[in-house]
Amino acid sequence: MTDSLALDYAQRLMACESISPARGSVFDTMEAMLVPLGFSVERFIAGADDADPAHGGPVENLFAIRGKGRRHFAFAGHLDVVPPGEGWSSGPFEPVIKGDLLYGRGAVDMKGSIAAFVAALHEIPEEAGTISLIITGDEEGPAIHGTRALIDHMQARGTVPDLCLVGEPTSVDRLGDMMKVGRRGSVNMWITVEGTQGHVAYPHLADNPIPRLVAILAQIKAVALDEGTEFFQPSNIEITELHTGNPATNVIPARALARLSIRFNDLHSGESLVELIRGIVEPGGGTLKAMISGEAFLTPPGELSATMAAEVEEVTGIVPEASTTGGTSDARFLSKLCPVVEFGLCNATMHKLDEAVAIADLDALTEIYRRVTLRLLNA
Ligand SMILES: [Zn+2]
Repeated sequence: MTDSLALDYAQRLMACESISPARGSVFDTMEAMLVPLGFSVERFIAGADDADPAHGGPVENLFAIRGKGRRHFAFAGHLDVVPPGEGWSSGPFEPVIKGDLLYGRGAVDMKGSIAAFVAALHEIPEEAGTISLIITGDEEGPAIHGTRALIDHMQARGTVPDLCLVGEPTSVDRLGDMMKVGRRGSVNMWITVEGTQGHVAYPHLADNPIPRLVAILAQIKAVALDEGTEFFQPSNIEITELHTGNPATNVIPARALARLSIRFNDLHSGESLVELIRGIVEPGGGTLKAMISGEAFLTPPGELSATMAAEVEEVTGIVPEASTTGGTSDARFLSKLCPVVEFGLCNATMHKLDEAVAIADLDALTEIYRRVTLRLLNA
């Protein structure tokens, strides 16, 4: 058996069932790891009086802080996991080692990386500086009462980090091949065109909304938002649904609906895109509803990304690509406070059956986190 501290911590966290929104035992386990390391741990439930089920229900959050110093370095992550699904080879919440791998829900996304950071803390003296952990129980859900509530908590207590590392699984084929320095934003929109229902044989008595919706969508499809930037791929507009709810061949429907999803880079804001689309939809006779899920952000090249890249190369021998691909993450909220970089385990098995992490990667990640933290604090 190995004597990996990160492996031991990962197993302890993965043994706690913590499907989003998470509360309770997984946070007890986390607190029990941090208190002996000198952290003061603050836990709170957010969203207890939010009646909207779309907001995900009550969620637990944890903020832990230790040390003094002019610089405050934060590690952010989540203890909630997605539901395991049917068909696992072993219990999703009974972590098991087979060969070189540790299996269980959360192995890479992202209890393994939280375990690696806590293991790294054992090698970082308290005098090194101010370190905090920003840990939510709702990243995989609506994320309404998760990291956003933690940011409010930190601002209320007057503690805002100077630099932040998010431990999401950013590596692709090998630990170290990718870090994220930004993310695209996301906005969803719903278009409705009203008409008047009637008989197909009596079109003068009806008003068909479909041609108007098709014309609106053709205009939207012709929009080229941008050609990408040095750091981002081009923004894209996708029409993701189209329906009238009309089962009859001889009826002109009363209403036609469509839905769009736009992933956008930092040349746009969610609001600017809503206005752009509204400028096509309303003159075309439709109405628009929109929900912005997250704004684009970029941490421009600088000390944080350079330090991360250098230490990843030192430990793994690979220079990580600085990417902005993939979906949104909680880094979108934290980026409003300070520079943020995301780096963590290989993401090949995240959200899948038989999620697994290489034990060697847990130890290598511990070493990367230790070096990055010490270098950024001593700077
Ligand atoms: Zn995650």
